[in-house]
Amino acid sequence: MRPILKNMSNTTFTMIKPDATGKGYTGAILDRMIKAGFAIKAMKWTRLTKEQAGAFYAIHKERPFYGELVDFMSSGPIVAAILEKENAVADFRKLIGATNPAQADQGTIRKDFAASVGENAVHGSDSDENAIIEGNFFFSQLERF
Ligand code: UDP
Ligand code: MG
Repeated sequence: MRPILKNMSNTTFTMIKPDATGKGYTGAILDRMIKAGFAIKAMKWTRLTKEQAGAFYAIHKERPFYGELVDFMSSGPIVAAILEKENAVADFRKLIGATNPAQADQGTIRKDFAASVGENAVHGSDSDENAIIEGNFFFSQLERF
């Protein structure tokens, strides 16, 4: 039996970004995540409006790349997902690699599928707190299993 109060350090949130969905990498990227031990708790194929992308990345509003980021993230479909694994946030950041694919380690998702620091194939939450906020941005309780 699962405990009623789930340990949220065991979940993270991801998006496969429009560059990667557009290049047909969705299946290969999901396969990497699953093979690394992440279980899918919620998942959807969708497309963000500019307003939604702006709200999701509001934390970066003052950064010089914010406008470009919002344009890019609303430019095509994404896959949003909540993933579960022990130590999910840290282990997932390791799996995706550095923000800039040129600096990402061999074997990471960004090294193998990302083109640039902006169009970097995947998102991964940076903390347990943000994993919860980001998961709630996309999914209701009825969409999680
Ligand atoms: N980004 C960008 N230029 C930069 C830094 C970031 O376009 O110089 C984009 C990139 O898509 C990145 C996102 O903004 O994934 C969020 O930036 P963050 O620093 O949170 O990187 P992440 O957590 O995604 O590795
Ligand atoms: Mg980040």
